[in-house]
Amino acid sequence: MMKEKLENVEERIRAACERAGRNRSEVTLIAVSKTKPVETLREAYGLGVRVFGENKVQELVDKYGALPEDIHWHMIGHLQRNKVKYIIDKAELIHSVDSLRLAETIEKEAEKHNITANILIEVNVAREESKFGVMPEELDEIVEKIAGFNHLNVKGLMTIAPYVENPEENRAVFARLRKLSVDIASKNVDNMNMSILSMGMTNDYEVAVEEGATMVRVGTGIFGERDYAQV
Ligand SMILES: *Cc1c(COP(=O)(O)O)cnc(C)c1O
Repeated sequence: MMKEKLENVEERIRAACERAGRNRSEVTLIAVSKTKPVETLREAYGLGVRVFGENKVQELVDKYGALPEDIHWHMIGHLQRNKVKYIIDKAELIHSVDSLRLAETIEKEAEKHNITANILIEVNVAREESKFGVMPEELDEIVEKIAGFNHLNVKGLMTIAPYVENPEENRAVFARLRKLSVDIASKNVDNMNMSILSMGMTNDYEVAVEEGATMVRVGTGIFGERDYAQV
């Protein structure tokens, strides 16, 4: 079951890359395993999955301790400042940096561990009130300030597109995120490289790949529906 689902996602990413004239190796598939038990992740691991995305600190920490060391863990959910210390040495990339204060906390924790933390800035491209993320017009200012931090590497941008019936409706959102990243990259700010565009979920990852996504975050498409009652 999972094997077929995973193959299906892989095939769709490959086809989207082909349509866009991109190389498949430019896109990383992040298996979003939130709410799923460790056995399910182990099954995915057995199928070759090595990059997992989680949205809760405690869950990421528990799964990190229970699963093999060669897994790359990505923090994709809203992060509270008081919890940064638990994942600073476990998450390879934090996708959800949505304020200067959060960036400051990550900088401090990274300094304590003598590491450089890799982060993406989450942008609320669609300006949804229910969503986290900095507004597009705030991006320049936050980027400039973070450039002065010695233990942070900004690797790119992330967005969570609205839920839509037809994924085509999100094409403009993805194109806008790419445009923002190109604009920032052209300014050549220190500590800043805009190589990652994290966008696209089960519903719309093919459109996101066509619009330049370098990371797609797919949960349901690989693991099936989530049962929040179990959590
Ligand atoms: C849950 C989640 C996903 C995956 O959603 P699916 O629709 O199940 O693919 C992707 N990104 C973030 C930030 C999420 O919280």
